[in-house]
Amino acid sequence: MRKTYQFRIYPGRKQEVVLNRTISTCRHLYNEKLAERKKQAELNRLKKQFDVFPWGKPEWINYFGQKLDLTASKTSFQKEVHSQVLQDVIKRVDKSMVNFFNGFGYPRFKGRNMYNSFTYPGSGFELKDGKLYLSKIGSFKIILHREIEGKIKTCTIKKDIDQWYVSFSCEIDNPVPVEIKTRTGIDVGLIDLLTLSNGEQIKPAKFLRTSEDKLTQEQKRLSRKKKGSGKRNKQRIIVAKVHRKIRNQRKDFAHKTSRMLVDNYDLIKFEDLQIKNMVQNHHLAKSISDAGWYQLMNLTEYKAAYAGKFVEFVNPAGTSQTCICGYFVPKKLSERIHSCPSCGLVMGRDQVSAILIENRPSCTVGTTGIYDRQGLSIESRCSGTLRGFSPE
Ligand SMILES: [Zn+2]
Repeated sequence: MRKTYQFRIYPGRKQEVVLNRTISTCRHLYNEKLAERKKQAELNRLKKQFDVFPWGKPEWINYFGQKLDLTASKTSFQKEVHSQVLQDVIKRVDKSMVNFFNGFGYPRFKGRNMYNSFTYPGSGFELKDGKLYLSKIGSFKIILHREIEGKIKTCTIKKDIDQWYVSFSCEIDNPVPVEIKTRTGIDVGLIDLLTLSNGEQIKPAKFLRTSEDKLTQEQKRLSRKKKGSGKRNKQRIIVAKVHRKIRNQRKDFAHKTSRMLVDNYDLIKFEDLQIKNMVQNHHLAKSISDAGWYQLMNLTEYKAAYAGKFVEFVNPAGTSQTCICGYFVPKKLSERIHSCPSCGLVMGRDQVSAILIENRPSCTVGTTGIYDRQGLSIESRCSGTLRGFSPE
């Protein structure tokens, strides 16, 4: 199984120029190869639907074909980048097409602020004496605040506005599954609140709210700035940094909470938010809080997998309107206390939901590997090719 580690690196000014140029070269290659694949997909669609070939008979271009093309005709910019890094870009294009054919969104071209990482998929990097050596770029000071387990397989460099990170994907031994002795069900609320089936409630710290207020403020300021002006660009960076702060605070909360859950329970059950959202209407506040919950669930699944523990997802239908005895107890959202006329149970509504979730059989079992409910591996999302949350 794979485990990901992330560390910050500190490039000098000149190195930063090279890093930025590498990302830019990769982004251009990505867009170029994606255009090829999109054109081909379109040709194939025409062929299937109308049996016409307006631009001649389409040739099937795949990952290997595109890789050969690249080797045969590299630009001077591309020659300055390690060949495996470029091949990985083509792999990302391939992945985005494969995902598309599996029912996910149509791959999009990447604008300047949308492409921010590159990967050494096998070689071209080395960790030695507290330094990270990257082929064709140079060596960086790196602080390994965690010990790396297993064998490093890939090395990804990421840019986050003005900070740089490296993440290593390592091959580790599969853990021995534990015997399930402790279990819990978890109800997640619309507001940032999490209720366990034993009644325990967890709230993220108040600072998250404060940062979110600050975000609204800075965004308002941004909207008042003239388009294309230097001041607007400066404000855009300020907004991006507030976003980063919130992201990090949420991540930190998700890391700590998932660690606590996995340390305390062998089997953890969540409601499946995807099923839940199919029956409920969307609104913005909901999707924002869901984003946080997805991250928490993914991290819990991820950490449980390493510990040989289990995470399951259950269909949440009716969990807010049913008693533990099975009696139907309708409640408005504003009613926070559940009171059952049949068995006489009086309890907080969130805890009743959590108990029902704990007792419900799962619809998807997340123990076969580190996959989220969309079937995308966390690694593929980590590489920055897909939207979503990275585990680190
Ligand atoms: Zn009851």
